[in-house]
Amino acid sequence: KLSNRLQCLLEQIPSGSRLADIGSDHALLPIAAVQTGKAVFAVAGEVNPGPFEAARKGVAEAGKGSIISVRRGDGLDVIEPGEVNCITIAGMGGALIASILERGAAGGKLKGVQVLILQPNVGEDILRRWLLGNGWVLTAESILEEDGKLYEVLTAVSEEEGGLTNEEVYRDLNLNEGAVVCGKETLLQMGPWLLKAPNRVFRDKWQGEIQKLEGILASLSRSELESAETKRNQINTQIKQITEVLQCLP
Ligand code: SAM
Repeated sequence: KLSNRLQCLLEQIPSGSRLADIGSDHALLPIAAVQTGKAVFAVAGEVNPGPFEAARKGVAEAGKGSIISVRRGDGLDVIEPGEVNCITIAGMGGALIASILERGAAGGKLKGVQVLILQPNVGEDILRRWLLGNGWVLTAESILEEDGKLYEVLTAVSEEEGGLTNEEVYRDLNLNEGAVVCGKETLLQMGPWLLKAPNRVFRDKWQGEIQKLEGILASLSRSELESAETKRNQINTQIKQITEVLQCLP
């Protein structure tokens, strides 16, 4: 059975996709995708030898060797331009995912790709910023908790597809009848869709962030350096901002 995290990614894959799962490890996601009809063809990409062998073994054992191609290589190097229309990348940092997409885009590997489904372990804001700056519109976000960890799943559609625009997605969000206005920076930080439909996990995440920031503040309070003072002010502003947003959420 798939983890809730991978199940969440699976649900975002449009039925009948030609899929590439990058950093596939045991190839659990592409196997589930072809088994459920979400994908008619899949590439499982892996850069490291151990996970690459695990993917090969998993695909062979599932009897899907004819429709899942397991390939060894860095990021999107494993696909040809136009070969797939949906890409999933899960379980890495947001900065690494963004750099894989950046290098892939430069090599023309995002040509014909309509949907990106991404699950960064950290640095969600970095990834949102990359998507916004590179012609991708965030169309859905989920946050879930599994085994004590929080995961966000971001779905983005190419601007070329038409439909929703980034202007709409990152338009100022008024909370509590305008008592708090979330501008672009807050939306990039916390997630425009998560802010519009917050759940318990989302509140817990940001409550936890406040606690982390308070911890940093406490350790800074012993320093008399001018730079510490500046940092304290920055953190206090951040705490105030998050607290205000949390208090005004629907
Ligand atoms: N995607 C699976 C999941 O979410 O369960 C596996 C996640 S695992 C934590 C991250 C995988 O990404 C590792 O197997 C690692 O070898 C692979 N990886 C890291 N950097 C990569 C890159 N540049 N290209 C392809 N695979 C990469």
